[in-house]
Amino acid sequence: MSFKNLELAFPILKALNECGYTAPTPIQAQSIPKALAGRDLIASAQTGTGKTAAFVLPGLQRLSAPCPGRKRGPRALVLTPTRELAEQITESVRVYGKYLRVKSTCIVGGMPYPEQLRALRKSPDLVIATPGRLLDHLERGRINLSCLELLVLDEADRMLDMGFIEDVERIVDSTPSGRQTLLFAATLNNTIVKLARRILKHPERVEIAARQTTHECIEQRLHVADNLEHKRRMLKHLISDPAMTRAIIFSATKRDADRLARELYAQGHAASALHGDMKQSARNRTMSNMRRGKIRLLVATDVAARGIDVAGISHIINFDLPKCGEDYVHRIGRTGRAGASGIAISFASFKETNELCRIERYIGQTLPEHVVPGLEPRRSLQHMTAKKKGGWHPPVQGYGRNGLKRTFGNRRNAVTAGYPKDKKRGSTRKGKRLIIEYRNSKESRRLRRAS
Ligand code: AMP
Repeated sequence: MSFKNLELAFPILKALNECGYTAPTPIQAQSIPKALAGRDLIASAQTGTGKTAAFVLPGLQRLSAPCPGRKRGPRALVLTPTRELAEQITESVRVYGKYLRVKSTCIVGGMPYPEQLRALRKSPDLVIATPGRLLDHLERGRINLSCLELLVLDEADRMLDMGFIEDVERIVDSTPSGRQTLLFAATLNNTIVKLARRILKHPERVEIAARQTTHECIEQRLHVADNLEHKRRMLKHLISDPAMTRAIIFSATKRDADRLARELYAQGHAASALHGDMKQSARNRTMSNMRRGKIRLLVATDVAARGIDVAGISHIINFDLPKCGEDYVHRIGRTGRAGASGIAISFASFKETNELCRIERYIGQTLPEHVVPGLEPRRSLQHMTAKKKGGWHPPVQGYGRNGLKRTFGNRRNAVTAGYPKDKKRGSTRKGKRLIIEYRNSKESRRLRRAS
């Protein structure tokens, strides 16, 4: 099938030709005709499948036809969860709509208001926005959605995960009921289906990627780590590989991302952090430096896990494992894009056993273990995953909420380090009472003062 079969307008075909696209991807082939026919759509497709064009192209086609009755406000709105995704969609609109006279603007949080007000006053045909900032403008009467013809909810599942459901619903309520709505999500779970029932009208369903699909051109590896220091040493070794042309290193927290990026920069690497606490201008600068190849190592939180499309990312390193399998699939999907191959390396410490089991269960495969020669872990993988098989695993020393040393892990085998030997922590009422008794005891207070 070619794009011509999809009956797209000539200026769009010309722009696609310049992009080097020869044929529509499956999500485009299935969604575009339905969207052009004016149907509502609920589509499930992972990022990297070409889903942006699947809604941008029919949107542009609609906007290329004049709308005589339009009074004010945009004709099309794309809502997306993150600022980076919004910027990326805006760029796609610019590229695909190069030969059309369609005015578009991007409205995201973290950017100065005056600039956005100026852009809104110019009556854009298409607005690409994150829900929070758009709602802000809507409530202040700075944008009118009463003439909206097309609403796209991109990465709807992520928007719901991020707690945008109320904002999305309030935005939807201020649009005309006769609009066309296209909903795209990586996975169609129950919440999405419920939302779709409320806001879509007799939608067509398009399902491309199965839930557990991971990208076949990505080689996945697992490195067992003893502790944080071990992870650091392995990372130092891996990033010295010249084959690593561009990499995203995922960390669990914003603070860890900053710290790790600083360390790598101090070691002489072109490294930078990307996370939600950074100003939007700094986030945009970092992304553009990454795209231009000025940054080789991007240390990011999950803000970069979804949708970010930077060509030439050779490696993904999960310095900390994500909490669930779905996030893992999104993270590794930043490499191996557009037919290229990529390597996804995950570090898993003993504390991350649960996350590892969750990921392996989700993707339906065991991650093959690799070791860095000279940096072999002290504990074996069998120890790590024994819990999954119902076996024993050694308890880990740590600090409890009361600041005292205690042991985490398999309760049956746990030897409470901070508690007297006969007062083991347990889930029984008696166990809990013993803990309370112990916390209030003289001995406990003495230890707390000493620690
Ligand atoms: P997306 O899933 O929208 O993030 O797109 C992933 C990548 O696929 C982007 O780099 C697009 O430029 C590219 N792409 C989209 N559609 C096509 C197509 N029909 N042929 C080749 N590449 C495409």
